[in-house]
Formats: sequence, C-alpha cells, structure tokens
Amino acid sequence: MPHPNPPTFWHATTEITDYPKLEGDLTADVAIVGGGFTGLSAALRLSERGASVVLVEGQAIAFGASGRNAGFVVPNFSKADPAYVIAKLGEEKGHRLLRLVAQGGDRVFEIARQYGLEDAQRTGWLQPAHSAEMAEALKKRVEAWQLFGRPVEWIDAREIRERTGMPIYHGALSDRSGGTINPVAYARTLARAAVAAGAQVFEQSPATGVEKDAGGWRVVTPAGSISAGHILLCTNAFETGAAARLGKTVIPLQVYQIATEPLDAALIERFSPRREPVSDTRANIFTYRLTRDNRLISGGMAILPVSAEQRMARTIAERLAFELDLPSVPRTDYVWRGTAAVTTDFLPHICEFGPNFIGATGCNGRGVAMTTMFGDVLADAVLGAVPLDQLAVPLMPADAVPFRPIARAAPSFFLIRGLMSDRRAITRTAHKPSSTAA
Ligand SMILES: Cc1cc2nc3c(=O)[nH]c(=O)nc-3n(C[C@H](O)[C@H](O)[C@H](O)COP(=O)(O)OP(=O)(O)OC[C@H]3O[C@@H](n4cnc5c(N)ncnc54)[C@H](O)[C@@H]3O)c2cc1C
Repeated sequence: MPHPNPPTFWHATTEITDYPKLEGDLTADVAIVGGGFTGLSAALRLSERGASVVLVEGQAIAFGASGRNAGFVVPNFSKADPAYVIAKLGEEKGHRLLRLVAQGGDRVFEIARQYGLEDAQRTGWLQPAHSAEMAEALKKRVEAWQLFGRPVEWIDAREIRERTGMPIYHGALSDRSGGTINPVAYARTLARAAVAAGAQVFEQSPATGVEKDAGGWRVVTPAGSISAGHILLCTNAFETGAAARLGKTVIPLQVYQIATEPLDAALIERFSPRREPVSDTRANIFTYRLTRDNRLISGGMAILPVSAEQRMARTIAERLAFELDLPSVPRTDYVWRGTAAVTTDFLPHICEFGPNFIGATGCNGRGVAMTTMFGDVLADAVLGAVPLDQLAVPLMPADAVPFRPIARAAPSFFLIRGLMSDRRAITRTAHKPSSTAA
C-alpha cells in the first residue's frame, strides 16, 4: 500500500491492514471520497444510522494529515476564541459551532473506548501563555469555555512551571477533556468500526472525477465507479482529481514533525510529570507530547518549506533540548511532513458543490477532535436531519481562496513576523539556555 515514505513514527510502529481496490460499479446511498478522520467518521456515523456507504481512498487509510499529525486531541480552535466565533457567525450559528467543538474530546475518547483503541491517553491538554498579553487573552478564553460547561481552568505561572519545567510561561489554559492518541491507529479503528457497521472501504482508488447520474451522482475511479444519491468530499487540502474543488477553498500549510529516541523516565519527570501534551501560544508554536515508549513528538514550520525534512529535524530537536533544558539534543528517529488546511477565517467549513454533494475541511491544525465531529455533521446533512444552512459547521461558498498562489506564501511571511514578536515577548530569566532557539 502507498504509505508515507519515509514512514511517520505512527506508520512505522502501528499494525496496518489493507483494504481492497475498487473494481467494478457499485451503488450506494452515500459515496465518500477520502479515508482520513473526516471521511471515516462520516462513514461510521452514516452506517450506524442505516445508510449504505462506499468510501474510496486514493492511497491508503490515514495517508493524509490524519496519519501525519501529532495526535494531540484538542477540543479547541488554533486561532479563534469563542468571542471571535460569535462575532463572525452570530449568536445562533456561533453557539452551534462552539457546542460542537466542546464535545470533540469526549467523542474521540468515547470512540477509543467503544472500539478498543489502546493508544489513547486522556491526560488533558495544556496551552501555556508566553506573554502577559496572551495570559489575559487565555483567561478570557477559559471563562468563555466554562460557560459551555467545559472542564477548562486557568493555572498560574508556578503551577505551569511544575507541570512543564519551563520558567518562561505566565500561566496556562488547562483542558481536562483533551489528551493524545496514535493517529494511524485511530484512523484504522474508525475504518474497522465503519466496516463492521456495514460500510465498504476501498484503498488505492482515487476519485478521478464526479459526474451527474440518473440517480444522483457517479464517482469515477480508475477501475470502477460508485453511483450514489449523495457525495461527501473529505479530501482536506488535497487537490488531485475530484479533490481539487475542495482543496482550492483552503491554503495548504506544510508542517514538519519529529519523533526522538526514547528518553529516560527520570528526565521525563522534569518536564512532563503528568504526561500532558503541551502547545503554547507563540506564533512559532512550541509543542511536545510523549509516546507510550517515551519518545518526544514535536513539530514546526519552515520558512522555506521545500526539501526541509533534515534541516527541520535538526531545528526541532535543538529547540526541544533548549526549551526543556535537556542535557543534550535528542536523536531524531523519525521525521515527516504533512499538509494542514487553513481557511481565511480560521474556522472549519462545509462547502456545497451541487445538490446532495458537499465537503468539509478547514481544521486549521486542530483536526483530530473537529474532524471526528464532522462525522456527525455530515451524517445530519445527508440524512436530512438538519438543513444545510443550520448545520453546526458553517456553510461557506465553494470558492477558491482569492489570490491563492500569493496566499500560499502567507504562512512563511507570518512565521518570520511571528519569530520576531515571540522573541520580543519572552523574558528568559530562570534557566540558562543550553542551545539557541530555532
Ligand atoms: C503535520 C501535522 C500535524 C498535525 N497535528 C495535529 C494534532 O496534533 N492535533 C490535531 O487536532 N490536528 C492536527 N493536525 C490537523 C489534522 O491532522 C487534520 O485536520 C485532520 O487529520 C484532517 O483530516 P481529514 O480526514 O479531513 O483529511 P486527511 O487526513 O488529509 O484525509 C484526506 C484523504 O483524502 C485522500 N484523497 C485525496 N484526494 C483523493 C481523491 N481524489 N480520491 C480519493 N481519495 C483522495 C487522501 O489520500 C487522504 O487520505 C495536524 C496536521 C498536520 C499536517
């Protein structure tokens, strides 16, 4: 099967079963294009609710962002605050989206428990503030989420230092409903559950096109087709074949990830006594989590995201050593790259391409929980339970991002600006750096 090459840590260490190629012509209530968390969650929800479903994946299950992410389960937005969401969408639609996001962590861990995903740890999630200004913004974010009944709280500078060993933070948002998963195992669990509920799943079956058909639509693959009343495009930032019309509505963002060698338990106790995943508020975001075998997973973006794997592997490992005050730079055992889908308003979107033909994308780097919830939203849309314009995820025009070739360079521009503002905002007093920051 065509898995990422070189493999991610997840692909290299997770047992993988193959699904067949689609050969011949099938008929179903719903055809789903894309075998990541979005397509698989939708396949599971729809099959459980009695629809016949055929899902085609162009490469292999979890080939895209769903197999390449860091596995942080974060029921939150990357850039948007609850107040921003309400200002952008209005009270009613804003509250619908916020209620959906609020359930994301519960749903991921419920699926993990129900379908026996072993590599899932509900340790909570920490978002430390790197500046006094961000601390004030996060305190407001905590209050806003508490109004939705979320298990979110503000912890002070002393406590975040105890929980990360890092002296630079002004406090942190702590969300007890978050945690970590092995993303490839999670995607494979969703696929197995969807098949058990009646869905048919095919790999190495790229949708090359979509045609009108007497009964609705026909999804065409190199060796077969699916005639269906409904189509769900779940192809995230991809742009080949049928995916192009969804892919052009977002800006692709290249993100690099590494997994280090396993670290000593006594060392881990210093920076992760509770094994909580951490993503701070810097523009050049600093993140880390542990795997079950005590490796650190961390990531970053490159200013020039071309052939940058080895360069980024070094930069990310050095940053880990510096920020966590490790005795030496840890060896990098795995490095990989994935593409996240960014929208211009930083919110997830549903797009309509024709009658009963919709797609969902735009998780802006916080997609494990959100794409799981997409499953419910897409099932509601297909089964007619909720009109499209009242779905919990906003319906947006399926237009290409304006000036997209220029917009693609925007992440690099914001990264350069962010590196400068991060440097200005952080006061380092308590520990002596052992290497320079990335
Ligand atoms: C490096 C990285 C780290 C991240 N870390 C985190 C994290 O820690 N926590 C978090 O919440 N989010 C994270 N994210 C975001 C999260 O991974 C994504 O939001 C989520 O996986 C998107 O899922 P998806 O199913 O929509 O898309 P994808 O997983 O990208 O799936 C789309 C699928 O469609 C298939 N496809 C494309 N074109 C076709 C076609 N024509 N026919 C058939 N199939 C096709 C692709 O092969 C692919 O498998 C990260 C993203 C990246 C890139």
